[in-house]
Amino acid sequence: MKPVLLIIDMLNDFIKGSLKIPEAEKIIPNIKKLVEVFHREKFPVIYICDSHIKGVDYELKIWGEHAIKGTWGAKVVDELAPTEVDHIVYKRRYSGFFETDLDLLLRELEADTLVLTGVSTNVCVQHTAADAFFRNYKIVVISDATAAFTKEAHEQALRYMKEIYKAEILTTKDFIEKLGE
Ligand code: ZN
Repeated sequence: MKPVLLIIDMLNDFIKGSLKIPEAEKIIPNIKKLVEVFHREKFPVIYICDSHIKGVDYELKIWGEHAIKGTWGAKVVDELAPTEVDHIVYKRRYSGFFETDLDLLLRELEADTLVLTGVSTNVCVQHTAADAFFRNYKIVVISDATAAFTKEAHEQALRYMKEIYKAEILTTKDFIEKLGE
């Protein structure tokens, strides 16, 4: 297995700012744990980050202004700041694959399993999972390292990804244990 950790939209605006997700701050320690394990095992870590163009991106009409390119809101939270070995992919839509070079990067890294973390479970995580499924990647979603605006939306999205994309849903602890086997 060649797993790659995807950290989706753990940006100031979603964690502390204009589109704050109530449960998001709680998942930071679990994502941190996963980053430590991936660094130790020399597996890649990719940050997938909203980076919107003000006044242009259609999504802003739905959600209001958030994660505008170059602003504090579009920066990864300090607690999870990427290091020089990590990769960053910027996106302007829900899916990390849409009009980005994520797939090219994953192929060069020879990734076969994508480990999904971040926010929100039923929007950017789920859309990224869909595109990963279409491209034949194996998908793992970490249930306590993802969050949505409501608990119901979070759980519904996990169920959907499990059923429709055959995603494996694991806790941080279970995933780390499994990796060590
Ligand atoms: Zn956005």
